[in-house]
Amino acid sequence: MSKYWSEAIQNLTPYVPGEQPKGSNIIKLNTNENPFPPSPKVAEAIHQFDTDRLRLYPDPDASALKQTLADHFEVAPDQVFVGNGSDEVLAHTFMAFFRQPKPLLLPDISYSFYDVYCNLYAIEAVHIPLQDDFLLALEDYTQANGGIIFANPNAPTGRALTLDQIEVLLQRNTETVVVVDEAYVDFGAETAIKLVNQYPNLLVIQTFSKSRSLAGMRVGFAIGNAELIEGLERVKNSFNSYPLDMLAQVTAIAAIEDNQYFLECTQQIIQTRDWTTVQLESLGFKVIPSKTNFLFTSHRYIAGAELMGFLRTHSILVRHFSRPGIDNHLRITIGTESEMQALIDCIKRHPDIISL
Ligand SMILES: *Cc1c(COP(=O)(O)O)cnc(C)c1O
Repeated sequence: MSKYWSEAIQNLTPYVPGEQPKGSNIIKLNTNENPFPPSPKVAEAIHQFDTDRLRLYPDPDASALKQTLADHFEVAPDQVFVGNGSDEVLAHTFMAFFRQPKPLLLPDISYSFYDVYCNLYAIEAVHIPLQDDFLLALEDYTQANGGIIFANPNAPTGRALTLDQIEVLLQRNTETVVVVDEAYVDFGAETAIKLVNQYPNLLVIQTFSKSRSLAGMRVGFAIGNAELIEGLERVKNSFNSYPLDMLAQVTAIAAIEDNQYFLECTQQIIQTRDWTTVQLESLGFKVIPSKTNFLFTSHRYIAGAELMGFLRTHSILVRHFSRPGIDNHLRITIGTESEMQALIDCIKRHPDIISL
């Protein structure tokens, strides 16, 4: 608390990102980063980049990147918005669409940044409980609202709705904006981008941070009706004209253009995820079926926080959420095959597993 702070920021509860340890020799399975490097085409784009150009401002509209994304997803360039990571795209989305007299609807267990933005922009939210199987309770999203947001697949549960299920929600909710955050969609779920031309109130948000190995570059995007995109541009151009620097723009283009590499990496992660699921289950873990690059898992005899601490002493970082209802779970990012083998080997050495 400080007397210099404006009143509105005294009561903020900022988001706390997962730890980024300084040391090496740590197996980092705590922030859902991709274990593989970005495409070699990204490295090539950086090597060929003419640093003299950095004296100039970047293209404020990132038009080449928007065109690349438009071609890739078969939409028009004016249906594409880009931002400094999808967190920024989300922030502008909350500002542009959710500051309404009626409350925002969102799942009670979801990406915790949504509540942070509600807090920042004074948006009232109604948290709808997930079903016991951790799927969204779609029939509960019928009340009057100022918008709806959810992640599909959801975080940190990893469960996904089908496109048919999302379409039912869209048919019932036509008057306010429905945002689907698809940060993890490339690991086995179906994108709702196919529906944007049918539903003018649908906005789909994706990121280069997970499936395209570019978390450090900060690139996210939204696809929807041109009217929604224009709303986002109004916010963006009232905030920061140049959210994407030149390197971010050229590397994002290179990443999209190397679709073969993208498919290989995501397939490998899916395969390793399924292997890890089987291994954990054989050690007595309950594993929620995942369509993401992480597993949400719990064990009857070992508390989540305890296991996180045990793994940490063996230089393996995973994420634990202290929120009641999920506080016995761990969220474990899928790394390389050998990292996941090391995780399983480590868990097998836990005293409570040995004694089973
Ligand atoms: C990681 C994540 C994001 C943020 O991604 P950035 O593009 O790196 O800002 C957004 N939504 C969800 C659900 C995520 O897990």
